[in-house]
Amino acid sequence: MLKIGSNPYVDLDVLVDAHLAFVNGKVKSGARKGQWKENSITSKLNTAINLTQGDENLFLKYLLNTVTVDEIIKGTPVKLESICNEIDLRFPNLNFFTITAKTQTIRPTDLGKMLYDIFDYTAFRKSQTCISTLNAYGYARAVPCVYCNLDDVCVVPVNSKSKAHTIEKALLDMDHFFAKYKYPFLALSFYNLIPSCHNCNSRYKGYKDFLLSSHVHPFVHNFDDIFKFELSKAFDPSQTEDDIVIKVKNKVPFGVNSVEDLGLIERYQAYRFDLLNVLQIMYKNLKRTKSINDLFGSPNDTKDVFELAKIPLTALDIATCKMGKLKRDLLADVGVI
Ligand SMILES: [Zn+2]
Repeated sequence: MLKIGSNPYVDLDVLVDAHLAFVNGKVKSGARKGQWKENSITSKLNTAINLTQGDENLFLKYLLNTVTVDEIIKGTPVKLESICNEIDLRFPNLNFFTITAKTQTIRPTDLGKMLYDIFDYTAFRKSQTCISTLNAYGYARAVPCVYCNLDDVCVVPVNSKSKAHTIEKALLDMDHFFAKYKYPFLALSFYNLIPSCHNCNSRYKGYKDFLLSSHVHPFVHNFDDIFKFELSKAFDPSQTEDDIVIKVKNKVPFGVNSVEDLGLIERYQAYRFDLLNVLQIMYKNLKRTKSINDLFGSPNDTKDVFELAKIPLTALDIATCKMGKLKRDLLADVGVI
């Protein structure tokens, strides 16, 4: 829930264009120069259109000619949500998945499988284009997941015995904000691919429905603006770790939905001993002076203390610091910052 792309060195437009060229590219040379590649979304949609009839055929033509592949792949989260709503309205009888009665397992229908093949997320996930995008986001260095600000995600080099060169592996999940089983035609949409930790994607989000009106979207919102964490009871430095009980308050009406659905409070509570230490150190220092800058003498000294305690110096640094938002919110709650 930390805004992706707020780093000024990340040019999302360049990344989006590279992404589109990979999933819907044209042949660059030879006899077929300028034509769609066989594995492009456009080619696969055209093939599927020739194989289908009725509503399915109309739907595939609608994707190709009315919505357009460019919009599906490059559309902003707001645009993607409007595409979903429009398709739900126009094609109410189409089913992309079924739920088994006994075990409540979600399975794709034949149409769902066809869309998984056209919008082939698995092939993209294995691609160097995916790795390059993640490196551009800054994941060559381990950083906290944008949903939880807790578990690290990163891209690591892997020495492969079967290949002469070093390959890279992304130690993370790509969450589909608008669920892939529900909207398989958004499986490759750039702004629907959220790099996240396994706990957020698989253990907590799972099949839960996330929408822009109900949950924090990391390309749209900065979670620092959406909710704030507080302590359940007034802090006293003599407290024990069991006294550290975190609660959350909305800053906007839907704020806490993401916190609840991703289990953030229970996951943060596991770090209560570390949090107690941070609060004690900062609180005791505060007792000696009202101003952090007065206390530590100079802005540089202040910076050192924040870095030692692994507290983001400013709200802009939250994304790079494990539990950065939580620490800053709790320090604000006890009056330190
Ligand atoms: Zn996470």
